[in-house]
Amino acid sequence: MKSFSITKESIESDKPKDECAIFGIFNCKDAANFTYLGLYSMQHRGQESSGIVSSDENHLYRYAGMGLVANVFTENKMNDLQGKVAIGHNRYSTTGASFLRNAQPVRVESHLGPISLAHNGNLVNSWELRSKMEKQGSIFQTTIDSEVIVHLMAKSGETNLLDALGVALREIRGAYSLLILTPRYLIAIRDPNGFRPLVMGEREDGSIVFASETCAFDITETKYIRDVEPGEMVVLDHTGMKSYYPFPQEKPSLCIFEYIYFARPDSHIFNESVYKVRKNLGKQLARELPVEADVVIPVPDSANIAAIGYSEESGIPYQAGLIRSHYIGRTFIEPDQKIRDFGAKIKYNVVREVVAGKKVIIIDDSIMRGTTSRKIIKMLRLAGAKEVHMRISAPPTISPCYYGIDIPTHKELIAATHTLEEIAKYLRVDSLAYLTVESMNQAVVDHKGGGFCNACFTGKYPVEFQNDELGNQKSLFQEYAIEEG
Ligand code: SF4
Repeated sequence: MKSFSITKESIESDKPKDECAIFGIFNCKDAANFTYLGLYSMQHRGQESSGIVSSDENHLYRYAGMGLVANVFTENKMNDLQGKVAIGHNRYSTTGASFLRNAQPVRVESHLGPISLAHNGNLVNSWELRSKMEKQGSIFQTTIDSEVIVHLMAKSGETNLLDALGVALREIRGAYSLLILTPRYLIAIRDPNGFRPLVMGEREDGSIVFASETCAFDITETKYIRDVEPGEMVVLDHTGMKSYYPFPQEKPSLCIFEYIYFARPDSHIFNESVYKVRKNLGKQLARELPVEADVVIPVPDSANIAAIGYSEESGIPYQAGLIRSHYIGRTFIEPDQKIRDFGAKIKYNVVREVVAGKKVIIIDDSIMRGTTSRKIIKMLRLAGAKEVHMRISAPPTISPCYYGIDIPTHKELIAATHTLEEIAKYLRVDSLAYLTVESMNQAVVDHKGGGFCNACFTGKYPVEFQNDELGNQKSLFQEYAIEEG
């Protein structure tokens, strides 16, 4: 019998892919160990590779590997990461293929000395910049967009590192929360639109910590101080901490999908609790799109909190009707090609007692291609659900993201190419409803006074980009056709 393998991506392919996590710590005797912990707590933001670079004020020490944090770093490797300053990165590839050489943090030697960089986001003009530099003779070591930043610094002609960084920052466009490490500096930067989160905190020993999400502060016993502001550059060295705003001011466009799906619900990002916002979205859904039913169940885990909100607002009991396996390895080997059809079953199982004979409301946070949702609905029907009503705690996803999230292309997104009725028919649900952009805004934007990117729901992009044929955004998704019947 022919062996056949399916990857984790094919099991989970109907969700947007998380982007990356960054973590940095300054002036801490256990810098690398705390970085390890911080990365461990942010594993959900990237599972392809993980890396740490530390500094003892003379050298930068680097180790990176493919896979999960707990598998990449051994005790020996950690012991090699000396010094009181460190940065780390968990990667999911939005640009650049998944190879070890693309693992971050990047470290290069230059006339400015050694420089290391960890990037969360996506530069929308990296292809253009890279082509130009390659024509001028630059040789890139990786295929990731972030490497253009260090090349721009090295080619700037400046002899001062901060001036060289200033030159590079004036050239790049798009989404970037960055941590830059040199023997002297730890620098944290957030792009002027503030697409990706970046928080700053302090530990009791006085060390300063940066992270993509505050869940990394809880595990490292760090007290949250504030967000690094959109367009802010925070520079730490032996003289202390300084803050600069080197960019012309832009209207912020924080990624609203961070609240809907990406960030951990126990984190605070963009100055707000993810749990609170996600629950708000569920409540809004119940107010605007009610349906008579016996039970509310989430598609775990990302829709759990929205489903709690829906249940609280509607008074319909919340139950765990689907159980998600947390033990799916990177590659799942099965001895039959038919296993591809089992993708959703490998990840989810139905609690028959919860749904049999019931009118079920199933809450999810997004539908990309619809393939997994369709399989889940089929499983609920087979387990005896009398009616299945699907409610989505976000508007229909109709456009890809160019700012660091891997969302399928326009033609692959079911909501971009089909009506609500066609999608409901494909999923085989009794009813389907999404939040509108306005109601999402009420739940999220009103909360914070505006300033969010919602381009994947509206197609209105706050920062211009090159089209994706030029390689800005890697899509993992395949063509598909809606099956009839
Ligand atoms: S397009 Fe969507 S996923 Fe991308 S930054 Fe904007 S809101 Fe976030």
